[in-house]
Amino acid sequence: MSSAGKHKVTLLAGGVGGAKMAEGLAALPDVALSVIGNVADDDNFHGLWVSPDIDTLTYSLGNVIDRNQGWGVADEGHRALETLNKLGADTWMSLGDRDFGLHIYRTMRRRRGDRPSDIARDVARAFGVAAEIVLPTDDTVQTRVRTDAGWLSFQEYFVRERCAPEVRELAFEGLGQARPTPGALEAVRAADLIVIAPSNPLVSIAPILGVPGIADAVQASAAPKIAVSPFIAGKVVKGPADRMMQALGERADAIGVARRYRGLAASLFIDHADAALGGAIRAEGLEPVCSRILMQTQEDKARLAREIVDLAFAPAHLEANA
Ligand code: GDP
Ligand code: CA
Repeated sequence: MSSAGKHKVTLLAGGVGGAKMAEGLAALPDVALSVIGNVADDDNFHGLWVSPDIDTLTYSLGNVIDRNQGWGVADEGHRALETLNKLGADTWMSLGDRDFGLHIYRTMRRRRGDRPSDIARDVARAFGVAAEIVLPTDDTVQTRVRTDAGWLSFQEYFVRERCAPEVRELAFEGLGQARPTPGALEAVRAADLIVIAPSNPLVSIAPILGVPGIADAVQASAAPKIAVSPFIAGKVVKGPADRMMQALGERADAIGVARRYRGLAASLFIDHADAALGGAIRAEGLEPVCSRILMQTQEDKARLAREIVDLAFAPAHLEANA
């Protein structure tokens, strides 16, 4: 245990799946949480810079998230979008009125030359988030999806096309030249435990680990490293990770996840329903840990987070409870 008597836990997280894990870890009194989020979903809409995964983390940890849809702000209106629509703008990207306020603020500060990571930190503070929300890079990195109709931006694929087109190839524009933020490197280096959330391995976690220096820092860390599978009973809870992995020739199950995190995580939490995959996961070099990994309630999130932290720091206690 480190200063202030808390375990320093660093979570790599995308949007909805990542935010659930973040909420679980944030609920533990013995954890000081840093979350390294994904910026590769970011894009420009109506002249404003929108950062969907970072905002999902902020809104979730700030407890203003729309709990029904898992993203966006609760008690939201869409009058600004109505006006944009009336004016002939493309409004397939659902942006609420409260949400727009944050995008205006972010864009204003970026135009002023402020670092995106400083803006994200200040926004999180203003929303009452106790955890550190850290950007992997201050440079622009954007996921591109090649379909049979050509290259799409990530949001065109995800929101406008509702993930319908077959994915032929993924690219991360700007990733190779991106520089890691000092905050992200420090969050990895200082961590007593590194957790990879059950986020989409291809478009949420890969663009974080792909920022030059971050995967190396994770590999170099002597801290326990634990991943959680986004697959339950061979299916994703939501989103296109299964179809994407299949289309790209990877196994669309917890074994495929283990393959992706080989060398980056030592243990992989999988669902009881996937217990039969344990041997194959071990063969990939990760220790499988069976649990209930569906997080529907705040209790589910905190219980899974507790098990992860106990596996890292009190394994005997966990076995005693098993
Ligand atoms: P996005 O950026 O909003 O798409 O969200 P993420 O990349 O963070 O997470 C998407 C992944 O989270 C999907 O592959 C889901 O299967 C997974 N997921 C969502 N809810 C849960 C859950 O309760 N438990 C687990 N294990 N995975 C989940
Ligand atoms: Ca996302």
